[in-house]
Amino acid sequence: MKTKSASGISLRSDYRSGFIAGCTIFTPLRRIERNGILFRQGRIVGFIDSQTPEDTVIHSFDGCLAVPGFIDIHFHGASGINFLDGTVDSAVTALATHLKEGTTSCVPTLMTAPPDVIRKAITAILEARQSDMSISEVIGINLEGPYISADRKGVHDRESIRAITADEMERLLEISQGMLRIVTVAPEMEGALTFIRYLTDRGIIASAGHTNASYDEMMAAVKSGVKLATHLFNAMRGIMQREPGALGALLVSDDVYSELIADGEHVHPALFRLVARVKGAERLILITDASPEYGMRKTASRTKNGTLVGGTLPLPGELKLLMQHSGLELESALRTITLNPAALLGLERRVGSLRKGADADIVILDRNLDVKAVFSKGERVV
Ligand SMILES: [Zn+2]
Repeated sequence: MKTKSASGISLRSDYRSGFIAGCTIFTPLRRIERNGILFRQGRIVGFIDSQTPEDTVIHSFDGCLAVPGFIDIHFHGASGINFLDGTVDSAVTALATHLKEGTTSCVPTLMTAPPDVIRKAITAILEARQSDMSISEVIGINLEGPYISADRKGVHDRESIRAITADEMERLLEISQGMLRIVTVAPEMEGALTFIRYLTDRGIIASAGHTNASYDEMMAAVKSGVKLATHLFNAMRGIMQREPGALGALLVSDDVYSELIADGEHVHPALFRLVARVKGAERLILITDASPEYGMRKTASRTKNGTLVGGTLPLPGELKLLMQHSGLELESALRTITLNPAALLGLERRVGSLRKGADADIVILDRNLDVKAVFSKGERVV
């Protein structure tokens, strides 16, 4: 919502100021009772107990929870749209759909595709980012391929899998204007370790995934700089007693963050407990891996041969399943969709936690953990 005063000066900042009252606040590291959140011009000013400053719009949500806006670092689209479509309008539509579920910041993700398709999609996302519409804020771009294993390609296009050349990468870096933040690599590919170091040197997160790597190959990749596992368990070599495989290596590498699609379809919920114990709540990041069907159907669809085509469950649904099956308490579980992805990207002072000076990206949940309201940079959008 935006208005212009008679003088032509935007009053938008007024819509970005207010006071949220009546909630239990999860920062998420701290739980704060009997306080409200004061925000001005899109930023959090602080937590105060009762007296609301004059001229402040009060949003009362008695008995609800106030938590940081969610962050999804791996999703491909929504509402019939794949970011690979490469148009600004479609990117805006997908980003708006995700915002409604509480995802206030995100890292749109591009699957394996021909070079020109990827370039066009990146340009469209960067332009969509500037939109005046209420959309999830783009805080990076995630390239899931094309440097992946054909044996573990999932639904990725086999024809477009290729070795990334320095030339292609330089061009991508140039057009992405510093926004390319995550790239998935299969460590067993020729030149992968050099590529992982190349990414790491440029502050880009090398994520291991869509991989048939052995335990040794994955451990070498972790040593070379891998910081993240692309949807742990899915599309990677599993654990055997004498060959712990890519999965075993990623599980025992304490510093490596793990993405997890906790929709109950991609990974058996019994493994939520295992991964929560092994990785700890600090290194777990829930992702939707949203397909274009996100927002249009309740369960993920499959190809003819049974391969799952991305996810359709929004992050709050995954949060509930994670809590049900992992034994994690709300404070810890919340980290996996707020603070952890922010910390991975080095943005934790601005997004992913409620603290003084941070963006007023705030989600109000009811006691069933269903989304009641969403504030994006202080503006109520749901
Ligand atoms: Zn994906």
